[in-house]
Amino acid sequence: MQNGEEYTLNVDNDEVTGADNKITLFVNCKIKNPQGQVIGVVGVGVNIDYLQELLRQYENKYNVGTFLIDSTGAIQVSGTYNGHTQVDWFKVNESENIRQEVLEWKNGKTNWEVWMPSSVQSSEKSYLVVRYIPDLDWYLLVKQDTGALVEELNAKILQTALLIGLVILSIILIITSVIKKFNLKMTKLLEERQELFKEATEQIYDNIYELNITKNCAASRKTQLYFEALGAKDLPYEEFLRVVTVKQIKEEFRAGYISTFSIDNVKRQFEEGNNYLQYEFMLTEDGSNYFWMRIDAYIFYSKMDDSLHMFTYRNNINDEKCKEMEIKKKASLDEMTGAYTKNATERIIDKVLAGELKGSYSLFIIDLDDFKQANDSYGHQFGDFCIKEFVRLLRSNFRESDIVGRVGGDEFVVFIPSQNLEWVRQKAEQLCRVLDTVCQKNGSVWKMSVSIGIAVAPKDGKSFEMLYEKADKALYETKKSGKNGYTLYEEGM
Ligand code: GH3
Ligand code: MG
Repeated sequence: MQNGEEYTLNVDNDEVTGADNKITLFVNCKIKNPQGQVIGVVGVGVNIDYLQELLRQYENKYNVGTFLIDSTGAIQVSGTYNGHTQVDWFKVNESENIRQEVLEWKNGKTNWEVWMPSSVQSSEKSYLVVRYIPDLDWYLLVKQDTGALVEELNAKILQTALLIGLVILSIILIITSVIKKFNLKMTKLLEERQELFKEATEQIYDNIYELNITKNCAASRKTQLYFEALGAKDLPYEEFLRVVTVKQIKEEFRAGYISTFSIDNVKRQFEEGNNYLQYEFMLTEDGSNYFWMRIDAYIFYSKMDDSLHMFTYRNNINDEKCKEMEIKKKASLDEMTGAYTKNATERIIDKVLAGELKGSYSLFIIDLDDFKQANDSYGHQFGDFCIKEFVRLLRSNFRESDIVGRVGGDEFVVFIPSQNLEWVRQKAEQLCRVLDTVCQKNGSVWKMSVSIGIAVAPKDGKSFEMLYEKADKALYETKKSGKNGYTLYEEGM
């Protein structure tokens, strides 16, 4: 104890016998007489072993190192050591470099803080807080080792990185497999397309021929072989055209075919600025079965041989043509009876009459006698039935190619090639006989008969209108003379 000091605090670890090296705090007080003279010193030792326990708790709870060191640097109290072991803090912590700074820090009111390496070998840092305790001339050192934190943080980062890696990997795997599948599909699709394309182009190419119009010959090896296949080997193009026409093309299309693709026409068309020709016709390859074919021809001038050339592309259009004709036919047929409508009848008959007539044709107008009665007695539905029955009987007396049309409610026409007037009369008598019958259904019975008026082409006219007008006059005569019969038109009726 110094002279001026009234009391001193002293911590010791081993000064008390039987204290078992436990930490003991000594409070030493001077005892003075009334005159103020020191007559003695009283010291009380308090066991503060629990201090070490307290530091340990802090260390565990906050993951820090706590030390009380004396002015020489020896650890007096810490979670691990006490003054008895006399361990030097700076040596243990390999921090000789900060010894002087720490021990010179005497400001008991503030902390001194410093970053220091955890150990010489380690690059990790520890954070050290130093507080000077003047009463004990000790220092309280609290050291936070960032190594564990960093380690924990690193582990977390690693875990997260692994997780992210795993997610990325699975996404990549999924995307890759999707792309693979897509590529596979695309490849398959492309292959299929290519196959189709190849097939189509081969077919197109197979049907393309090239002709030299100026030199009147085949212009490619393939075209020469085509000439040869049709028995026109080495023949001029126009000769070949005639051979094909006779061998393969249906009669009614021959003239059109020749006039479209003849050398004269091709040259004329090109001169007039048209370089594209098209012709639809019916063709046979076996001599009996005809199918629809279209030729598209492109005319161009070739500088190479100073000639006019023509590419022809042959296209089988049978399916589309049949469909088209089916649709057209449907539109021109009467729904109830299947006979041609009035317009279609007129159009078709006029078309035949406009052509070259081989022999005569007859137009029959056939009108049901007293048909109103069928409707009036048994109803419209029965009337319909009678009309259908009548058409069935009518057709059974004609050929498939004969034209049967419905021109009024119960008025029909038949247009047929006819040999002579006698033949026409016989046909009319036959019709009257067949159609003089009884129509019955579900107990309804109607006596059917017809009146017929006939005009003959070209004698009585060369158009539907003229023939109809005359046949109608003849029909009027039949009706007038008692029905159920026929009349052939005569001048002056
Ligand atoms: P005529 O001997 O003078 O020809 O006497 P008709 O009774 O046959 O008289 P007309 O030819 O003038 O009349 C035909 C009738 O046919 C008139 C109409 O009600 C009927 N009719 C017309 N079209 C149809 C049809 O599609 N179905 C039915 N059930 N009746 C029809
Ligand atoms: Mg009638």
